[in-house]
Amino acid sequence: MQEPDSGPAYTAAQQKVIDVIGKSGPAPAIPPGLAAELRAEIDAAIAPFTDLLPDGKSWENRFFLNKQSLSDVHSCEAYYLGGKADFEWNSANSRGTIVHKAIEVSINIRGGVFPTDLVEESISRLSNDPNKNIGEFLVTLDEYGRAELIGECSSLFTRFLEGFPPIKRAWSPQTESAIGLDLVDKRVRIGGKVDLSLGRPPDKVIIDLKTGAQFGAHRDDLRLYALIDLLTVGNAPRKVASFYIDSASIEAEDITEGTLRAAARRLADGLTKALEIKYAGRAPEVRAGSNCRWCTLVSECPTGQQYLAQREADEGW
Ligand code: SF4
Repeated sequence: MQEPDSGPAYTAAQQKVIDVIGKSGPAPAIPPGLAAELRAEIDAAIAPFTDLLPDGKSWENRFFLNKQSLSDVHSCEAYYLGGKADFEWNSANSRGTIVHKAIEVSINIRGGVFPTDLVEESISRLSNDPNKNIGEFLVTLDEYGRAELIGECSSLFTRFLEGFPPIKRAWSPQTESAIGLDLVDKRVRIGGKVDLSLGRPPDKVIIDLKTGAQFGAHRDDLRLYALIDLLTVGNAPRKVASFYIDSASIEAEDITEGTLRAAARRLADGLTKALEIKYAGRAPEVRAGSNCRWCTLVSECPTGQQYLAQREADEGW
């Protein structure tokens, strides 16, 4: 389905993706000792808390940080520590997972398959997958809700096919691949999941597929994944990119020594903050921002209330 029979007949958006992330010269040089240096910086940030950390003897008994919690602790420490509502699946937040599954399967499926059929099959598989808790939500949908979700996801998936070039097996695609950096004898884990990567180290490109709007934090998320690759695989990707399905647009960044140093500093700072407030008894600081809109602490947080009132006055919502 994905590989055209003959020469490329790319849409303008597909051509733009190829122009932006295609190989056009050697990858930026990364000093050979950089991985060890950055690892030492991160280890040093954790060292003061070694006696306070979980023992790491089981998967549950670890301190976890992912791209979202790292972003949260830098945004508002109180929100990171206790302001997040329990996650619940719904039609809006399940679309990304379903479309990602359809994209994953579309790379390898043989023969022509209609996007709607692939989306419907993806929903069926996810509904029956005991390892995916999205299934608990999908099985509750009535016929109308299921049809509506299929329609929304089919539109997004078709939009992806129009905007992203057909993915060839020769590009060594990896989809939905889990990555993780274990620290301090596995007592700390920095984890994540890469939506799509193309190419092999050192020419790899890591791509986040976005079904929503652009945020500055997306660049930081991708830099974190590049850093994890450097500290685990031993090679950083050549480039990272966010592909926005709605707008069929791509934002990419070369991975350089500078971006890796910035990512390591942000991770080390975030670890220090998170460990101080979670294990060392420091009171969390509050910092108003977009998280205030869904923070469970807002009713008792004057800073957040003031921010929301000001925002309402400014924007009329
Ligand atoms: S309401 Fe805003 S400032 Fe207050 S704790 Fe929540 S996210 Fe932080």
